[in-house]
Amino acid sequence: MIKMKKTILYTGSALCLLLLGMVFAGKKNAAPVRPEKVLPTEKASAPVKYIYLTFDDGPLEGSEHIDSVVLQERLKISVFLVGQLVMQNKKLQAYLGEYKTNPYIEAYNHSYTHAGGKYKKFYSNPVSVLDDIQQDEAVLGLHYKIVRLPGRNIWRLGSLHKDDAAAGESGSAAADTLAAHGYKVFGWDTEWRHNADGTPIQTVDQMVKEIETRLESGATLTKDHIVILIHDEMFRKTWEESELKQLVDKLRTHENYVFEHVRYYPVGVVK
Ligand SMILES: [Zn+2]
Repeated sequence: MIKMKKTILYTGSALCLLLLGMVFAGKKNAAPVRPEKVLPTEKASAPVKYIYLTFDDGPLEGSEHIDSVVLQERLKISVFLVGQLVMQNKKLQAYLGEYKTNPYIEAYNHSYTHAGGKYKKFYSNPVSVLDDIQQDEAVLGLHYKIVRLPGRNIWRLGSLHKDDAAAGESGSAAADTLAAHGYKVFGWDTEWRHNADGTPIQTVDQMVKEIETRLESGATLTKDHIVILIHDEMFRKTWEESELKQLVDKLRTHENYVFEHVRYYPVGVVK
């Protein structure tokens, strides 16, 4: 009887020790794994950098893919629209309607007439430039006082003030007038240029490299923010075949890169 009790005791003690051992062994194994999972990775802790994809002169014939593509890709883009073109064309009016209901597209002002292509004459009268901008706003029903001037890379954002080479001759005074009336005027940090047939001049890899280099080295107007001018022609191919998809996919491999609407660009923050 005593022997049996002893055997039970020994067996029980052994089981307890085994269980305790398992618990400690489990803890020992779990301990180094947990912090690795909890601690942020190097990538995630990198500062967030904002990319603003902007498209001028639309809506245009051939840009019908834009609406469905940005919805499918959940890609935020900003479009600067020219009202005169839209008013002349039912198809473009339909595109405008799609743009305005698409949460990934924000529509801004690129003037009503696009200066009629005569920039020097257009900019010689700042008040008529203001009228033209206000006409675009009214005709297209634009919600934001955000402008890109036709044919000029000029910025007026709070204390941020930048002219391109042509602005001194024409454009600078008009931009000042717009700023005085509460408009934000956006230029661009870099442009993805294209040939007449719509094929891009810089390769996808050249553009990716330029964007990465500028963001990492701070070579943009505002640190950690880059405004890119792209043309609707980039949307003429199907999305799967397009260079723009390749660009977006490559930029999205950076976890700290975020596509944002121009409206959220910081105002008055100069590097
Ligand atoms: Zn334009």
